[in-house]
Amino acid sequence: MSDVLIHSGPSAGLLPSRPAIPSGDRPAHAPGEGLIRLRGVTKRYGAGATELLALKGIDLDIAAGEFIAIMGPSGSGKSTAMNILGCLDTPSDGEYLFKGQPVQRLTRDQRARLRRRFLGFVFQGFNLLARTSALENVELPLLYRGDPPAERRRAAAQALRAVGLEGREHHTPAELSGGQQQRVAIARAIVTEPAVVLADEPTGNLDTERSHEIMGLLLALNRDHGITVLMVTHEPDMAAYARRVVTFIDGRIASDRVNDHPTTTAPEPAAQPAGGEAA
Ligand code: ADP
Repeated sequence: MSDVLIHSGPSAGLLPSRPAIPSGDRPAHAPGEGLIRLRGVTKRYGAGATELLALKGIDLDIAAGEFIAIMGPSGSGKSTAMNILGCLDTPSDGEYLFKGQPVQRLTRDQRARLRRRFLGFVFQGFNLLARTSALENVELPLLYRGDPPAERRRAAAQALRAVGLEGREHHTPAELSGGQQQRVAIARAIVTEPAVVLADEPTGNLDTERSHEIMGLLLALNRDHGITVLMVTHEPDMAAYARRVVTFIDGRIASDRVNDHPTTTAPEPAAQPAGGEAA
């Protein structure tokens, strides 16, 4: 196995070093390059009489630069699949290749390093540390990675600028609206320059206007910076931003279709005046 995924530290890895937020005219990853491959992935919970097959043999190929919405009813296996894709959990059977590397053969520590280096996470509930400034929240993944303080601060400030939160660096989550908190969470997800952002119902706690703003942000990260976006959503209006919609039903992929006319008109992220938004 290549040792690419098992090094730690900011300079290790497959990619040449890039500015903290890629510069717009240069995609982070060559579009179309194979990034993720699942083959026959199953996930079994429990054993014997209580055994439950949450995933019943998933095949999925994801290329660099895709924007995919994952839909399906509650209990259909979306979170289980996202946990596996995010290297937070492992399949019971089957194969997961990330950039050609068989993830199931990595140790827990190696998977954690893969996660820190290549993946960013955004959650419905924002999952920010309370009583901790926006800047420090965004610095956190860089702290885990061992980056020096000055570099952490610079990269975190740049990520906050990229999500339109310049001037809010020292606000705590309680001093920010829901939409702004989700922007901080997105800045935290992208500060490590991930190949993939996995977003689990990122607009689930937001009103319609803020939801579209967050989608505009994810769209810009995908379109302008080449970040692959995988997003679970229940909302057809939000899934409409994705160029591909994968629907789970009862532990299987029931449909996998291209959206020929994705929504492309969400507002661009913009710096907000002090005292800003309401939601
Ligand atoms: P979704 O995200 O689509 O709502 P999940 O992936 O959370 O679906 O769940 C799929 C199935 O697996 C459900 O029947 C759920 O109850 C079950 N499940 C999920 N996580 C666990 C777990 N940790 N232990 C046992 N069963 C689980």
